[in-house]
Amino acid sequence: MTITRSAGSWHDQAAKLSFEGRLFIDGDFRAAASGKMFESINPANGSVLAEVSRGDAADIDRAVASSLKTFKSGAWSRLAPRARMAIMLRFADLIEQHASDFALIDTLDMGKPITEMLTVDVPLAVNCFRFTAECIDKMQGTVGATSPDVLSYVLRQPLGVVGCIVPWNYPLLMTAWKIAPALAAGNCVVLKPAEQSRLSALLLASLFMQAGAPAGVLNVVNGFGAEAGRALALHRDVEKIAFTGSVEIGKLMMVYSGQSNLKKVSTECGGKSPHVIMADADNLETAAWWAAMGIFGNQGEVCCAGSRILVQTSILPDFLDAFSAVAKKDYIPGDPLETTTTVGPMVTVEQQQRVLNYIGIGKQGGADCILGGGVPEGLEAGAYVSPTIFTGVSNSMTIAREEIFGPVASIIPFDSYEDAVSIANDSNFGLAAGIWTSNLGTAHRFARDVEAGMVYINSYMNGDMQFPFGGWKESGNGRDKCMDALVSYTQTKSVWATIGN
Ligand code: NAD
Repeated sequence: MTITRSAGSWHDQAAKLSFEGRLFIDGDFRAAASGKMFESINPANGSVLAEVSRGDAADIDRAVASSLKTFKSGAWSRLAPRARMAIMLRFADLIEQHASDFALIDTLDMGKPITEMLTVDVPLAVNCFRFTAECIDKMQGTVGATSPDVLSYVLRQPLGVVGCIVPWNYPLLMTAWKIAPALAAGNCVVLKPAEQSRLSALLLASLFMQAGAPAGVLNVVNGFGAEAGRALALHRDVEKIAFTGSVEIGKLMMVYSGQSNLKKVSTECGGKSPHVIMADADNLETAAWWAAMGIFGNQGEVCCAGSRILVQTSILPDFLDAFSAVAKKDYIPGDPLETTTTVGPMVTVEQQQRVLNYIGIGKQGGADCILGGGVPEGLEAGAYVSPTIFTGVSNSMTIAREEIFGPVASIIPFDSYEDAVSIANDSNFGLAAGIWTSNLGTAHRFARDVEAGMVYINSYMNGDMQFPFGGWKESGNGRDKCMDALVSYTQTKSVWATIGN
């Protein structure tokens, strides 16, 4: 796949982009067996960006067969760890060299501001591939403490073919979090990108070949969830499904596993994360800035968005002033190709309508909409939603219980620490939680008490590759990033050898 660009504004460069839209199977781009295509739409203006092959069960069969053949050949699975590491590191270098291409593709494909692509998605994805590659030769088996006439040891081996099913909100990064550890552990991967963000995975696959990977190690089948995704999750030659997406579909993954070969399933699902502001927070402006970033960053299309902002009653008016001021100043929707834009459109018109519908439910339910609440003026051609703030929200309201996945903040007042924890934990989700306080005891009690996979104290949505990413409760059972993720793409084999006295 070649992408040709020349110097100029991002708009000039975007105009010159040419896209490869076919599936990537067995080392090459191929049309879907059915010949069907579907459109990739730029959500900033509704224009058709590219025609993409619409894979279905027949293409999943081809891709899984290719991955299984390659896995069994040992060309990847039995490569010396450091040789696999070298290819993965070259892959990371190539992604870094193509940073602008990835930034442009995902921005055009799903509406994310290009500055966010260049400062968050691409560097973090590169970091993910590098970190994971460097872990490859750090994984060890164990030797058991058995009687002297026995040698008992445990090997860690790859699983086989892994199916990765990813969402659209961070197309490159979510893909990296899944495929990097799966590949590093020696598996072959069939990747099913989200149908709303199809293009960057194809560039990734071709760069992986350029880095020296054998054909069939990474196959990419675009298509709809109910067609290609379902076929992948039901496939009997797939040993694991690594899924990131909604709770609803995450649950289906487990059903599909039970209906097929009891494949392993890891799920990274949604959230309704509590972001608690205690009255003793050191600096309310700083807390307000992070609270705004936590819900308006990436247009609120973030699984661990701090969408329930719990504020201690005594500081509510001051917090609201500070929070609204940041929202008005720093989160102004605009053209995602402009480097100053911080809020792009929703990924699709359907997602825009979903978010607007929740805003309507919030208004009807009695919450006060003090900012936004509709489509920003002048941006009607795109799938935009204004950053929106609701006050007077109770935790039983729909807007406090369901994941909206858009720039909609629900401010929920509380009186005591105990109230805050009780509200925070009153949710089916348990992905992330944050607290702002100057009291060390309160901070660490919260970390102990809150039901969430990730807790941020006087910060929000931070982390690095060593920080396991994943949730409790219906937010899923998987952990991305970190050494644990790599290990989760392996299985143990216990060996018992009688060696005599
Ligand atoms: P989604 O569940 O609709 O889709 C996710 C993926 O599943 C897509 O590739 C889709 O094609 C596929 N899919 C849909 N139906 C399927 C089926 N029947 N069988 C197999 N595959 C199917 O989610 P989405 O709208 O793409 O993404 C938004 C969701 O992802 C939000 O809930 C968000 O919180 C979650 N998310 C979670 C994390 C995390 O790490 N916990 C990260 C990012 C996004």
